[in-house]
Amino acid sequence: MNRIAVLGATGSIGTSCLDVIAHHADRLQAVALSANGRWQDLAVQAQQFRPRWCIISNPELAGAVDRGAFPRETELLFGADGLEFVASHPDVDSVVCGIVGAAGLRSAWAATEAGKRVAIANKETLVVAGPLVMSLAARTGATLIPVDSEHSAVYQSLLAGRGEDVRRVILTASGGPFRGWSRERLKDVTVAQALAHPTWTMGRKITIDSATLMNKALELIEARWLFGLTREQLAVVVHPQSVIHSLVEYVDGSVVCQLSPPDMKLPIQYALSWPERWEGVSPRMNWQEAAKLEFFPPDTDAFPALELGFEVAGRGGTCGAVLNAANEVAVERFLAGSLSFLDIPAACRQILNAHTFEPQPTLTDLLRQDAWARQEMMQWKV
Ligand code: NDP
Ligand code: MG
Repeated sequence: MNRIAVLGATGSIGTSCLDVIAHHADRLQAVALSANGRWQDLAVQAQQFRPRWCIISNPELAGAVDRGAFPRETELLFGADGLEFVASHPDVDSVVCGIVGAAGLRSAWAATEAGKRVAIANKETLVVAGPLVMSLAARTGATLIPVDSEHSAVYQSLLAGRGEDVRRVILTASGGPFRGWSRERLKDVTVAQALAHPTWTMGRKITIDSATLMNKALELIEARWLFGLTREQLAVVVHPQSVIHSLVEYVDGSVVCQLSPPDMKLPIQYALSWPERWEGVSPRMNWQEAAKLEFFPPDTDAFPALELGFEVAGRGGTCGAVLNAANEVAVERFLAGSLSFLDIPAACRQILNAHTFEPQPTLTDLLRQDAWARQEMMQWKV
């Protein structure tokens, strides 16, 4: 039995993960589930999965939660400390990091420090602290397996050759709801338009990131650290069907890729089944139907966020923490109506340029820069 802590259980990744666990009840067991605010949803999940722990990470809810809604055998923990407690508990084998934003860093860190299998959806952890997390995993023997569909595809495609024979890793991008739009047309994008993703149903933050292509920028940085690549080894291609999840090009010119219908349950399951493969819960490719796989170069003029991703992947140091924090607040401001769509990458660029770069930051340095960038973005005016 693989005993799993699902952090961010009430989110898009979390609920897909619980579908996978329910489908493989003979091998997977949810022993801990977390939510931040939606404790009623968490209680419903707890009634089905009967976990040993439920964590409500917002400590202010301690007085408001109805204990009776949870199974009697489930212990309730409040606050972020509860996340670290379960992430490092000896009775937990695997931790699914499905929290959104840099808020997921501490628990991902605790799981890595404790040498767990870490199924990492929370890309922000790697964007903020990629080199530190990777060297921590190397020290503790933690197995870090990506859940992000592109990185899962790269992980699988890298099994076809030796690391030193990789020429390039090409991340695919759906292009989001505004693929083909000019910069001019993007000026008046509304929140509702940006939240309508053509191929994936996801949480609000990553959906906005997908519309600006900041998601792809974050994924470039994620890939850079996860796979030890250089900026020159990274590329992006727009592939509207979201069927090829990414590609690895080897020095001989062979390109190896992974295909499947867009559904996060597959990469989540792979992160839990690796190195095995199990019967899946996700839909399969239908080879009886005509299908088209298209590729286009990305439009870096309309989507300047992409260039930020390449730059930060190249520079490293404190850049990831600053870009990520600035973007998190920019997305909140866009959703709240106090920042326009095109301001998101523009403001991130300014704050990145203004920060005091440190090439070899500690975790404390990174958290300080994160706080600084959030403050800057809250005050940012056109
Ligand atoms: P959601 O917004 O759907 O879910 C986020 C989860 O995190 C919820 O359980 C939420 O709790 C919890 N949460 C929110 N804020 C905090 C906080 N401050 N502290 C602790 N927990 C918190 O996000 P997604 O599932 O879409 O994304 C999760 C992560 O996975 C992101 O990093 C995203 O980039 C990545 N990812 C997601 C994909 C997807 O298909 N959704 C694909 C690839 C990567 P509550 O419900 O109570 O608010
Ligand atoms: Mg992705």
